[in-house]
Amino acid sequence: MRAVRCVHGRPTTVEVPPPQGEGVRIKMASAGVCGSDLHMLELGMLNAFTIGHEFAGRLEDGSPVAIEPIRGCGACEICRAGDYNRCPATLGDIADISRDGGMADEVLMWPEALVRLPAGVDARDACLVEPLAIAVHGFRRAGLRGDMRVAVIGGGAVGQTALAVARLVGCEVAVSARHDGQREAAERLGAVPLTDQPYDVVVEAAGTASALADAAKRCKPGGKIVVLGTYWDPVEMPGFELSMKEITVVPSSMYGRCGPARDMDVAAAALAHIPELPDAVITHRFPLDAPAEAFATAADRASGAIKVVLEP
Ligand SMILES: [Zn+2]
Ligand SMILES: [Zn+2]
Repeated sequence: MRAVRCVHGRPTTVEVPPPQGEGVRIKMASAGVCGSDLHMLELGMLNAFTIGHEFAGRLEDGSPVAIEPIRGCGACEICRAGDYNRCPATLGDIADISRDGGMADEVLMWPEALVRLPAGVDARDACLVEPLAIAVHGFRRAGLRGDMRVAVIGGGAVGQTALAVARLVGCEVAVSARHDGQREAAERLGAVPLTDQPYDVVVEAAGTASALADAAKRCKPGGKIVVLGTYWDPVEMPGFELSMKEITVVPSSMYGRCGPARDMDVAAAALAHIPELPDAVITHRFPLDAPAEAFATAADRASGAIKVVLEP
């Protein structure tokens, strides 16, 4: 079968034996290229395994599923609290980084990774469940309510999914985006124009110091900044503004479980309620045989790419 791996620093489709061993076999239907894949590729972190942590497919009986690509040890206090994204064992067991990910014809996953899709959600679009879960988790940590005004800094896939989830919560949401295509997508998803009136919650969805500074400027006194973008390096803090306004900065990483519901389950349900999302954010679909083109398109902001997806 085919799998996308890093060969000489480039994402390349190689022929590998089908996965063997314990687990549930999933036939891949869609796998998204994530900004962190681009970054990890550059850092040389994706050298051993099949790439891809945003993916969905079908079980052998045909039922569609999305995949939660992380798991903790399951036994420590952190895992039992539902915060398995913080468990030290999690970093050692992530599909894409420490085991084979989803850019392949078939993937073998542990049974707990399966996220059943509600009726009406196509596995071809369900690679969006993972980035939606990033937003669900961040807003859960921030205690987002429908009466709050939200600004999102960054019009990439993380910013757009944050917009879509906050709209579903009932919030009025504005997006600060750099590119025309990102602004158009945000409008389709119900964003209102950005104003200078301060916001209750500002989402930092760009992962840069300038976005964090902009977020602090737009946040109201006593408000919250939710950091959904990953900081790979130290970033400068807009210290004076954070202090004077007593802003709470809420970093957020991946997803976990709140009571019986995983953020991934909530995200799958959310996708069923936002049928316009796939059309608005999946800007490119490439065959599994063209990963170099897919990654180059995702890396080139001028291409108009928001979410680039690989398909079998
Ligand atoms: Zn990702
Ligand atoms: Zn644990």
